[in-house]
Amino acid sequence: MSVDAPPVFVFDRSDFRELRGLYEPWQAAQAPAPALVVLNEALAAELGVDADALRAPDGVAILAGNATPEGTTPVAQAYAGHQFGMFQPRLGDGRALLLGEVLDVNGRRRDLHLKGSGRTPFARGGDGKAAVGPMLREYVIGEAMHALGIPTTRALAVVVTGDHVARDTLLPGAVLTRVAASHLRVGTFQFAATHDDPTLVRRLADHAIARHHPHAVEAKNRYLAFFEGVVDAQASLVARWMLVGFIHGVMNTDNMTISGETIDYGPCAFMDTFDPATVFSSIDHGGRYAYGNQPQIAQWNLARLAETLLPLFDVEMESAVAAATVVLQSFPDRYQRYWSDGMREKLGLGADRPGAGRLIEDLLALLQAQTVDFTSCFRALSSAVLGDTTPARSLFTEPSAFDAWSTRWRAQQSSQTRHPRAIAEAMDQVNPVYIPRNHQVEEALAAASEGDLGPFHRLLDVLVQPFEERPGLESYAAPAPSTFGPYRTFCGT
Ligand code: AMP
Ligand code: MG
Repeated sequence: MSVDAPPVFVFDRSDFRELRGLYEPWQAAQAPAPALVVLNEALAAELGVDADALRAPDGVAILAGNATPEGTTPVAQAYAGHQFGMFQPRLGDGRALLLGEVLDVNGRRRDLHLKGSGRTPFARGGDGKAAVGPMLREYVIGEAMHALGIPTTRALAVVVTGDHVARDTLLPGAVLTRVAASHLRVGTFQFAATHDDPTLVRRLADHAIARHHPHAVEAKNRYLAFFEGVVDAQASLVARWMLVGFIHGVMNTDNMTISGETIDYGPCAFMDTFDPATVFSSIDHGGRYAYGNQPQIAQWNLARLAETLLPLFDVEMESAVAAATVVLQSFPDRYQRYWSDGMREKLGLGADRPGAGRLIEDLLALLQAQTVDFTSCFRALSSAVLGDTTPARSLFTEPSAFDAWSTRWRAQQSSQTRHPRAIAEAMDQVNPVYIPRNHQVEEALAAASEGDLGPFHRLLDVLVQPFEERPGLESYAAPAPSTFGPYRTFCGT
């Protein structure tokens, strides 16, 4: 009697498939010579998937899109979206497929999704492919974000296809396997709202409520409570980006999730010296998605979500708009609360006291005026709590201004009963030593594109423990040398 090997993935029934009109069943393109580049063993374990089975030829065939795993039919998901403020009624997965949904070892429902797996009915002019560099970039930055404690989609694996893709030059083609709480986006609602079937938005909202905001069913107005849940999740998410200097780079409504996870690591990058006007994306000419604009843009995107939900809020349009406006206008306060709570933690200040806000603003103004590295400065502050101000002072060209600020800061801190050591340790748990420095990421990806994965794995090892300072890794903590830059990023193709 032969015993069949158990399936690599065990797919659960997917309610999303009930939402006809929001997807097209589709098959991935065949990769001529798939080979595994990197596998996320920690994430595989979380999914309850056997890493060895994924490394085996049958596993790699699934990750490359060459074999459809048992128990599922892949689909390309439909969505619309505002790209740089312009509405595009039909975007969708042009080069991606949703394989299916699995329940992880904690019982959480996760989407498994292939990116770079060939043209779909939503491909428009695109070739449906992805180059290995941008897919590894998505992998490493997603893992860094996860390790920083920021909600994010994550990469399970990157395989090269054996094909080449034509960009500025010919580059190795690749497929990324992405894991997400779901791939529902603001743009999914925008697409549903343009559909002939008036029940589609309601059914999509019911699906999203069950999946991400189940508490909303208990509310008097569940759709308004759902909207409020998304507003709050995004306020929290964007605050967390801001607290580590993350710039998403392309906050189009199709790149904003309903779950509150960060998605789509294209032109994203971390800010070095503090400046709200920082933009890295080569296509963001107007600075729409600059660091300092991110909270406002999130609110703008949420207004687009609200527009799709208005008929569900109230049968009277006027009342629906009024209700939506109240929730939407709660965004700045929610954001501000998440941001200032996070900033107080970064500065080792306890409960909110008068003056804390000014202290935060004044430090940021100093960082900007003296072009100080954001990450290095916050990390150096824990030494100052323990009596050594040198690491922080030395970052300023005119340290006297820092000294004056520091005196005020220490005075606020001294009102706490916590021991300075406890304060410093807590600060080191929220102020990373290691972030994905742009020059390090570029170096690792350039080597990987030449077939040398050593630098990529070393960088990944550093970034998965961002708060643990380790000897020998000083170069990973340092800002880019002055010879690097100006840095430009490109939409992940
Ligand atoms: P993004 O900028 O990655 O968020 O993608 C925006 C839209 O362009 C989405 O609908 C993608 O599916 C589509 N897209 C991006 N690159 C490609 C490609 N190479 N082939 C087909 N569609 C693509
Ligand atoms: Mg996208």
